[in-house]
Amino acid sequence: MANNMDHDPSTASTSDNWSQLDVATKLVHGKSSVVDPYGSSGAPLWQTATFAQPSATTFGEYDYTRSGNPTRTILEEQLAALEGGDRAFCFTSGMAAIAVVCKLVSSGEHILAGEDIYGGTSRLLSQVVPTAGVSVSNVDMTDLESVQRGIIPGRTKLVLVESPTNPRMQICDIKAIADMAHAAGAICCVDNSIMAPVFQRPIDLGADMSMTSGTKYIGGHGDVTMGVLTIKGQELAKRVYFLQNAEGAGLAPFDCWLALRGLKTMSLRMERSAENCAKLAAYLSRHPLVRKINYAGLPDHPGYDIHVGQATSGGALLSFETGSVEASKVIVEETKLFKITVSFGNVNSLISLPCYMSHASIPAEVRAARGLPDDLVRISAGIEHVDDLIADLDQAMLKAMVKVGMKPETGKAEHDNALEGSQKHDNALEGSQKHLLLRIKELEEQVRELTMSGKHGNRH
Ligand SMILES: *Cc1c(COP(=O)(O)O)cnc(C)c1O
Repeated sequence: MANNMDHDPSTASTSDNWSQLDVATKLVHGKSSVVDPYGSSGAPLWQTATFAQPSATTFGEYDYTRSGNPTRTILEEQLAALEGGDRAFCFTSGMAAIAVVCKLVSSGEHILAGEDIYGGTSRLLSQVVPTAGVSVSNVDMTDLESVQRGIIPGRTKLVLVESPTNPRMQICDIKAIADMAHAAGAICCVDNSIMAPVFQRPIDLGADMSMTSGTKYIGGHGDVTMGVLTIKGQELAKRVYFLQNAEGAGLAPFDCWLALRGLKTMSLRMERSAENCAKLAAYLSRHPLVRKINYAGLPDHPGYDIHVGQATSGGALLSFETGSVEASKVIVEETKLFKITVSFGNVNSLISLPCYMSHASIPAEVRAARGLPDDLVRISAGIEHVDDLIADLDQAMLKAMVKVGMKPETGKAEHDNALEGSQKHDNALEGSQKHLLLRIKELEEQVRELTMSGKHGNRH
């Protein structure tokens, strides 16, 4: 053979009890059949488009990088093992991966998707997929009866679920929805970008496919765009591989290499980010300017019970409403450590107004109908020290309060109608910047309860 790729699984990275290891360990000791004779610490990068063949009439294991590349094989095998899928496939972006999922549905058939979904997915489903003769409808997937009603017997071939949803962090019952899809003869694909395989494993919950935008937590440093499809079942995997090769959206070797590097620290990054996010959620949920907070790790989140049954953390993404676009804009623009950035999952914290950025491609009237408010602020917690993050957010919130006429000392709304009606303002408000900062220590205590890691320490 022309290379060393045909050997059995290698080295210490594939001990017999590998599947029993914790996800943090699995990520560091990734499992792949690709053999590196030199025991490189970093994954080998085969930066090549073509491979010389053993003879004029026979193919070697690799011939052309669109069809396959050993660096991509390492990444795909590691991800398949991590998620408990039979195979995984990496694409140039999360959207390229979702586009391939949609191609599994033929003209005349139907896709059922959620209402609160990523803006790019919404655009693909409303403007691209229908041109292939595939119909799409969107239902509130937090409501199982709506899901059942949305399934068209004999025509629905794909049920696409996000949980938590982007950007409102709604929770959908993945197992129940997968069961409904299967009963109707449809495939269930879960967009797992927000939890990623570290916190949630859709295949274990009954999904046929798990999609992760690797641009977020897998890459983790905001330097690669990629998407992953992990598949249950060889037959489905073959169809996906066919499309990956035929359409040519397989992830390039160098990006695979970046992703492999990212995987090693993924658990560490996500845990720290989630811990920070839980603390930010605790801070925000007590802030007079916040009317509604969406964070899957808060016990009063309406989907909390379902979420803790299917995931091991509240995650590192939250969103909140202030009741005033003006106030939200000030918050986003006045934070210094939170960069105004679409996307999430970077080591640095990010902040955005989804309606003006990641979800701007959804028409305003559709956003309104789906209950996606313009004042919604989305925060992606990074791995910085949380005290710095809270102090930074706090000074921006203070400026926002001043802007909308709330007295920082008391937090009382004086004359901004947009803010009327929020229950929080009826309470005696504890609003001063100093006071809020002093609460950080106390919040940390409460957060220890909120971070679910202690309570739900199931090993992956
Ligand atoms: C970012 C994202 C996508 C798209 O992924 P890209 O890598 O940006 O193409 C899809 N779904 C969700 C939930 C996302 O957050």
